[in-house]
Amino acid sequence: MLSLETPKKFAPLVGQAHQVALNLLRPNSRRYDVREHEYPKELDMLAAMVDGLSESGAAGGAGASGVRSAEPVTQPEGTTRNGSNLASVLSIIEMCWGDVGLLLSMPRQGLGNSAIAAVADDEQRRRFQGVWASMAITEPGTGSDSANISTTARLDGDEYVLDGEKIFVTSGDRSDAVVVWATLDKSLGRAAIKSFVVPKGTTGMTVERVERKLGIRASDTATIRFEGCRVPKENLLGSPDIDVKQGFAGAMATFDSTRPLVAAMAVGCARAALELTRELLEAAGVVIDYDRPAVAQSAAAATYLQMESDWEAAYLLTLQAAWMADNRTPNSLEASMAKAKAGRTCNEVTLRCVELAGSVGYSEHELLEKWARDSKILDIFEGTQQIQQLIVARRVLGLTSAELK
Ligand SMILES: Cc1cc2nc3c(=O)[nH]c(=O)nc-3n(C[C@H](O)[C@H](O)[C@H](O)COP(=O)(O)OP(=O)(O)OC[C@H]3O[C@@H](n4cnc5c(N)ncnc54)[C@H](O)[C@@H]3O)c2cc1C
Repeated sequence: MLSLETPKKFAPLVGQAHQVALNLLRPNSRRYDVREHEYPKELDMLAAMVDGLSESGAAGGAGASGVRSAEPVTQPEGTTRNGSNLASVLSIIEMCWGDVGLLLSMPRQGLGNSAIAAVADDEQRRRFQGVWASMAITEPGTGSDSANISTTARLDGDEYVLDGEKIFVTSGDRSDAVVVWATLDKSLGRAAIKSFVVPKGTTGMTVERVERKLGIRASDTATIRFEGCRVPKENLLGSPDIDVKQGFAGAMATFDSTRPLVAAMAVGCARAALELTRELLEAAGVVIDYDRPAVAQSAAAATYLQMESDWEAAYLLTLQAAWMADNRTPNSLEASMAKAKAGRTCNEVTLRCVELAGSVGYSEHELLEKWARDSKILDIFEGTQQIQQLIVARRVLGLTSAELK
């Protein structure tokens, strides 16, 4: 039977994440928005706590590395499981109810950590355990078209030599290592793209600058240059073979795991805006009645009800995509659906909440204006709204990327 309740075993995790969001992230939200590029030192203590919970197993596998559980799926046939993907999504929703920028700044919880968890072999996962890894795909000439990257990796003896430039790397300045996408041979197309773990301090890797941004200002976003940058050949994640038949599937597998996480960020941020707007509307005398049709209510109440139903759809799609990953069910379609719906809903909801709250929404007295700014990136990184829609269309229509561009 379909149950929409939070699984009982995750209730303590969700409760803890909510307390952290309420008592640590929210109170520091404005501070690190104003002090862009200042490291949120409060996160060190929190990261240590998360490490402790992970080691004890109390976190249910939640976190950036939780996108691939170490243990195989062993449940009896016909039954399902709620695992670390769902735990990660649920805790991210709570944390981003607190602050998206601060969640993105959490040590050892980078998108590179998810990439390592998703595609590394057991030896590599052991070797890179405890490392804070960011993820570098985007280049000055390549954004959405990630198959077109020009950073190169050349095998020289026992090392790969990386050359190229990566831009907009989240946590690129603060992380301990960067997972870099590079091509072994551009003439062989997408199949030759591999990811490499490059530890900070490696000669030839330079963090050139950090960006100033519209939102998520607590999170650093860096440009990184690679010039004759050598890494051991064991730092290539996954198989070094160029399998033209498999194409891009290996590298892209990361997105099936990370897109539900970004969708969860959007769900959390939108819920924060909805809850505060509800309080403000009710204080202004607006009654939101679930027993009457929206059209029979005030325009503000009807708008609110519509936003809430959109939010619910985004929430359920996000849970579904994560749950499918936990049950080893191919979820590329659902991961993109969740990311598209949640990103768009968060953008629309946060901006509409500013509108409903009027000048209070637009001013810095409340966090509504900040959430509207923070939300925009959630519909851009890990694949934009348009790219997710393209992926969904291809999968639904059974067309290849060459057939539907
Ligand atoms: C704050 C921030 C953090 C980021 N963090 C990271 C990170 O950690 N690692 C990383 O690698 N990258 C990161 N990025 C980069 C991000 O992933 C890219 O910005 C994103 O993929 C879009 O690429 P682009 O900016 O080059 O836009 P473009 O690809 O040039 O797209 C511009 C517009 O055209 C649309 N478009 C493009 N192609 C199509 C098409 N075929 N059909 C219809 N519309 C299309 C897009 O949807 C978009 O609206 C970050 C970006 C920002 C702003």
